[in-house]
Amino acid sequence: GVMVGRRIRSRRRWWNVVTTVEEFKETTETSVERLRQVVDAMVVEMHAGLASEGGSKLKMLLTFVEKLPDGSENGIYYALHVGGTNFRILRIQLGGQRSILAHDVDRKPIPQILMTSTSEEFFDFIALSLKEFIERKGDNLQLSHDRGKDLGFTFSFPVKQTSVSSGTLIKWTKGFAIEDMVEKDVVECLQKALSRRGLDMNVAALVNDSVGTLAVGHFLDNDTVAAVVIGTGTNACYIERADAVIKCQGLLTTSGGMVINMEWGNFWSSHLPRTSYDIDLDAESQNPNDQGFEKMISGMYLGDIVRRVIHRLSLESDVFGPLSSKLSTRFVLSTPLMAAIHEDDSSDLSQVAKILEETLDIHDVPLKVRKIMVKVCDVVTRRAARLVAAGIVGILKKISRDGTGGISSGRNKGYKSGKMRRTVVAVEGGLYTSYTIFREYLNEAVAEILGEEIAPYVILKTMEDGSGIGAAMLAAANSARNVDTVQ
Ligand code: BGC
Repeated sequence: GVMVGRRIRSRRRWWNVVTTVEEFKETTETSVERLRQVVDAMVVEMHAGLASEGGSKLKMLLTFVEKLPDGSENGIYYALHVGGTNFRILRIQLGGQRSILAHDVDRKPIPQILMTSTSEEFFDFIALSLKEFIERKGDNLQLSHDRGKDLGFTFSFPVKQTSVSSGTLIKWTKGFAIEDMVEKDVVECLQKALSRRGLDMNVAALVNDSVGTLAVGHFLDNDTVAAVVIGTGTNACYIERADAVIKCQGLLTTSGGMVINMEWGNFWSSHLPRTSYDIDLDAESQNPNDQGFEKMISGMYLGDIVRRVIHRLSLESDVFGPLSSKLSTRFVLSTPLMAAIHEDDSSDLSQVAKILEETLDIHDVPLKVRKIMVKVCDVVTRRAARLVAAGIVGILKKISRDGTGGISSGRNKGYKSGKMRRTVVAVEGGLYTSYTIFREYLNEAVAEILGEEIAPYVILKTMEDGSGIGAAMLAAANSARNVDTVQ
């Protein structure tokens, strides 16, 4: 009797697991109909954000980038990139005709302690790292007047720009919290730290990482109209017509276009498939009620959503063994580990078992439980990738490059002589470049939303290190060299 009772109980518990995972899958449903609603919501919010300051959760920030590199740039440029987890220093040499003659990069993790320190400590670290890098590369800035003095600065946070080379930090994201920096001029902080270190350089461009990615995309391919970053955080930017930027009519000097930094990480819509795990994650985060889209999509959070689901499953059932305290620790399961679980192609899922043991302190689980792990990763990643796809199509729709004008209408700006124009979107960030299943889901969903007639015209291109190189190129473009205006 006891044995049978136990078996029934454990079968019921296994059933709990299956039901909870099914329910989770259903709440994260992203049918193409729902994705189209997200596309339309994105377009509506883009209009609202362009119409007035604070008109939408989408900030639609001006970048003052009215010229994108076109490949004709020449010379040596440095760039700094402060992103989410890494800090990068670059030196590039451009040789005209779309050529990059030399390209050196140094990457270092940003010490955790600096992420919550003071602006002075933070920028000192950056300036010192740059100085060491330049000394190693052998450029003598004292001797030469025009070699390598122009610096591009990629700062991957929301900035209210006052020109192409100045702007103030609006707020931190991605776990950063250097409070005295908020509302300060980012370039001024950097410039001061540079002179403290005796570095005589000129910050010629301050750019968001998405804008850097767009710049390098455009340098390599003139049909590039938008860029997306899907790394620790997520964001997108695109080229907008000046007359569509209602909130600053008269301010723009150009009659052409300007790159708009959407800050889409903060996008929100009731059409987004939100679960109780997302609500908890947000409530316990450093920035509650902020960056809602980002928290469903980017590398900082995906692993933690999976961790939350597994935690729930182990409370409901004993199939994971005794409840591991690791499961209540935020961010123990990083997104790269999640990707490794998801992409384990061994027949016994030995990689999954290893990560469960080493990271989550969960031992000896049967194959069916390992499969549940993979399933949960799949649900989380699929939703994220498909939401990014909807965002991308939203941008294309806003600029009439999604084909909804009808392929032969000819009236639509996106068409030339009745044809949809080739449209390139530059993509950067670890989720796209290193997580194959994520990338496949994303590409698949873009094609699904656009339909088979239009999809072939839209090309997503990977830009590794794009944002840093792009900043150096924008430094080049803005150090008084002639480049075509944005079309
Ligand atoms: C920031 C953006 C940035 C994105 C990708 C977000 O958290 O707000 O400015 O572009 O992360 O790095």
